[in-house]
Amino acid sequence: MPIPTPAAALSQAKRLVVKIGSALLVGGDGAIRSAWLDALVEDVARCRARGQELILVSSGAVAVGRTHLGLTGRRLRLEEKQAAAATGQIRLAHAYQEALARHGITVAQILLTLDDTEARRRHLNARATFEQLLALGAVPVVNENDTVATAEIRFGDNDRLAARVAQMISADMLVLLSDIDGLYSADPRRDPEAAHIALVDEIGPAIEAMAGAAPPGYSSGGMVTKLAAARIAMNAGCLMLIAKGQAPRGSGPLAAIEAGARATLFVPRAEPRSARKAWIASALNPAGAIVVDDGAATALRRGKSLLPAGIVDVDGAFERGDCVIVRTRAGIEAGRGLSAYASADIRRIAGHKSGEISAILGYRGRDVIIHRDDLVLTEAR
Ligand code: GLU
Repeated sequence: MPIPTPAAALSQAKRLVVKIGSALLVGGDGAIRSAWLDALVEDVARCRARGQELILVSSGAVAVGRTHLGLTGRRLRLEEKQAAAATGQIRLAHAYQEALARHGITVAQILLTLDDTEARRRHLNARATFEQLLALGAVPVVNENDTVATAEIRFGDNDRLAARVAQMISADMLVLLSDIDGLYSADPRRDPEAAHIALVDEIGPAIEAMAGAAPPGYSSGGMVTKLAAARIAMNAGCLMLIAKGQAPRGSGPLAAIEAGARATLFVPRAEPRSARKAWIASALNPAGAIVVDDGAATALRRGKSLLPAGIVDVDGAFERGDCVIVRTRAGIEAGRGLSAYASADIRRIAGHKSGEISAILGYRGRDVIIHRDDLVLTEAR
């Protein structure tokens, strides 16, 4: 695969996650920089008009809220940050809503914690909500759910949160808008020899050492968390860009990248789907097995999802979201995947049409037992 320029990668991405750091969006006085937000929203409207899906991951809740609560001039304790986030998030959401409404775009707020992206059931739920919102044409605006996240379950920085979101929804590209135009070999403010790194295709010790030396910027993340984000994105087969959020007057930050502004592009080695499927195949312990008839096994091998109609038996006890083995009646493993239903429910709907699921179970879940995006076929042996 030829390596694209940042401009080409950005304009070609079908599904784009853009992370906005606090320092870009919020002034030192705690006010939202509306001119900057308007320029960003121009970018969003343009990308959507040419058919791209956009998800914004925005920081700024604490920065906005702390001023309103008079919590300025010192480091905040966790509870104070949470109070600030509660106050700031509502203002932040309002600002996005107003700015995007001027382009006729609907905004949806999603607040996530680390658990929501790590626990499989919640991961699946959140992903389904993202998919639904995008299908309905809304722009999800995401932040960490700072008010409930304790120190142990906090991301603490939106760089990694944005990467997890990109992984969750199989985005093609993640753009981290920052106060610096990418990664440097050393701190460019102190070292005149510091060289800009345009392309990274592997994060090894040499690249990590650069992050340690680079300027931290204003965000809570700095370059270290940006590299952590890059690792998550690259493992998910997602391109990542670190670019400067401050664009020349009159231009949005994404327009500036498209016009050739300097940035650092992180290029994954695998395609998104294969990386995601590698995660399913390797990261989880199968909790049970679903036995399918030959027709269903053939359909799976042709890339279809697993429907209840093709299921003849279920082994073991598992929950919705657990990784299970799919076996043929002859006992041959056909694949592994994440089940959209618990084993007890599959026993009840096995052999039935998808349209009958809600009548049998009394609730309306997915039409498929394992979606093809959640299924890895076992190599023929
Ligand atoms: N979630 C925090 C906020 O909105 C920001 C985290 C970060 O700076 O990356 O204020």
